[in-house]
Amino acid sequence: MQANCPECEAEITLDKPMRGEIIVCPDCGAELEVTSENPLALDLAPQEEEDWGE
Ligand SMILES: [Zn+2]
Repeated sequence: MQANCPECEAEITLDKPMRGEIIVCPDCGAELEVTSENPLALDLAPQEEEDWGE
């Protein structure tokens, strides 16, 4: 299974992608979420911001 990083267009290969899985692009380090398994689709993972306080 292959897809391209939405951030840097690097080709990413996953053997067993699972929807919802978070992977890190080996090229740019962006966190990517597997949004579809077949065909494989990747999207930028939502940035979880540090929550100081509430
Ligand atoms: Zn990338």
